[in-house]
Amino acid sequence: MEKNNETLHVLRHSASHIMAQAVQSLFPHAKLAIGPATDSGFYYDFDLDEHTFTQEDLVKIEEKMKEILKQNLSFEKVSVEDVDAQINEFKSQGEIYKAELLEEHRNDAPTLYLTKDKDGNVLFNDLCAGPHVPNTSYIKGNAIKLLKIAGAYWRGNEKNKMLQRIYATAFWNKEDLENYLHVLEEAEKRDHRKLGTQLDLFSVREEIGGGLVLWHPNLATVREEIENYWRAEHRKRGYVIVNTPQIAKSKLWELSGHIDHYRENMFFIQKENEDDEQYIVKPMNCPFHILIYQANRHSYRSLPLRMAELGTVYRKEKSGALSGLTRVQGFTQDDAHIFCTPEQLVDEINGIIDFVADTMDIFKMSFEVELSTRPESYVGKLENWELAEAGLKEAMDRRGMKYDINEGDGAFYGPKIDFKVKDAIGRTWQCATIQLDFNLPERFDIKYQDKDGQLKTPVMLHRVIFGSMERFHGILIEHFAGAFPTWLAPTQVSVVPISNEKHADFAEKVYKKLRDNGIRALLDDRSESMNYRIRENLQDKKVPYVVVVGDKEQESNSVAVRQRGVGQIGTKSVDEFVEMILDEIKTRKC
Ligand code: ZN
Repeated sequence: MEKNNETLHVLRHSASHIMAQAVQSLFPHAKLAIGPATDSGFYYDFDLDEHTFTQEDLVKIEEKMKEILKQNLSFEKVSVEDVDAQINEFKSQGEIYKAELLEEHRNDAPTLYLTKDKDGNVLFNDLCAGPHVPNTSYIKGNAIKLLKIAGAYWRGNEKNKMLQRIYATAFWNKEDLENYLHVLEEAEKRDHRKLGTQLDLFSVREEIGGGLVLWHPNLATVREEIENYWRAEHRKRGYVIVNTPQIAKSKLWELSGHIDHYRENMFFIQKENEDDEQYIVKPMNCPFHILIYQANRHSYRSLPLRMAELGTVYRKEKSGALSGLTRVQGFTQDDAHIFCTPEQLVDEINGIIDFVADTMDIFKMSFEVELSTRPESYVGKLENWELAEAGLKEAMDRRGMKYDINEGDGAFYGPKIDFKVKDAIGRTWQCATIQLDFNLPERFDIKYQDKDGQLKTPVMLHRVIFGSMERFHGILIEHFAGAFPTWLAPTQVSVVPISNEKHADFAEKVYKKLRDNGIRALLDDRSESMNYRIRENLQDKKVPYVVVVGDKEQESNSVAVRQRGVGQIGTKSVDEFVEMILDEIKTRKC
């Protein structure tokens, strides 16, 4: 068996059997549920009745696994010939979950995997479809790690018993494991929920509801800069910007199809009287943009029409799924809809890809691309699907862009391109998407007049660059570990007078000069020591620059500059420093 990324899940699934074996040898009464591999490791769910796993247990289990691995065991697949007999055996062993699973899969040619020693003794067996590594020599004791314990309902159903899940991971070698653990540690340090409190960026309050975000002044400042960039770039790229209502009659959502297909995610507004119209809070901006399109006649000459909005939408989510800025119920999409002729499609897609690439470049983020194509059941003409998929591919090929294809994974109403943005520690996040839509233009019966005088249905593209402002800011916080580049930093420069008495006037003058130039400055004349103030501004508040002013600086109208993450970078005249900061802001230096 080859050791590569594709076969890693086989290794991990095998390691999960070893973990279960270790748990049962330490806790003989542990009942086994399921133990699959995941994208980053594996887990196993156990039923231990009254015992609750502790951190010490994790250490013991990991040690036990290493011991088991030293015995050089093999994995052997056998088919279950007599299902009823096997179910009875599981039951007699107390393995009620395995019995339940086997009952369910009795017609799927079920198999067991046996873990055997050199003499052929079966030390462990598990109901499992495999595949597995041939033997335990593939699993290195120094490349496995038990990570954490969590509760998990049997089959994910809260009506069932709560089981105990052990999360763990395994790699082909120690180096890969260490790299992964480093990323985990970095990710924890960068957690935007933690930094959100530490840097006073945002909060979510029980009184308001889950996933509804309060943007504090610091993060609202970052957003203002991002929005300014967003608006200017849209103007440059030939978009028009619109605004639309927060609510609409249910009639509109019936016409759009959302009532039928999206109902459980929509917030309905309580009616005062029986005869009142039903209003619904908007989960999407698309229908509004279509109605704006409809307000005018269109010909092939007036297309493409690129319509953008920072549109705030609300989508009901289960409270357990909500988290920080990345999983919310209310969010602002940087939404746009492009209405074009089929001939214009490739150029339009190309334009969006350019937009995404240029934008992510500013943040020094790279991205990967996935194309999802026509599923089995779909709406629209086959020829349009083929044209669109060819168009998406052509646009990417033209740029020499690599992409993965998820065959048959598109929405029923059109193919799409997903952009997975890579952050500073190599994690990928879903942000931008381009979604073609053959459904809504038909439903709303929108038209344009073509060259031949015929009325035709335009192609509609939904697209976001950031995805949602909430999510993208969560990603930005983690990407920069809270240390925003100067152009985004809530406070760009802190002015620290050495002596609040002697240097107050000059410090005030420097501070004013920065503010007059549009630089977000702060005068830190608290009575704390100079070193404390410098450290707090640069390290705790992550302000990009601190300028210190004392006698020398006052005499020469200059500032002693300290840069975050660098230290002292020398003394500059006040004008020179202002120039430098303005240049960093203008070029959006990262
Ligand atoms: Zn849309």
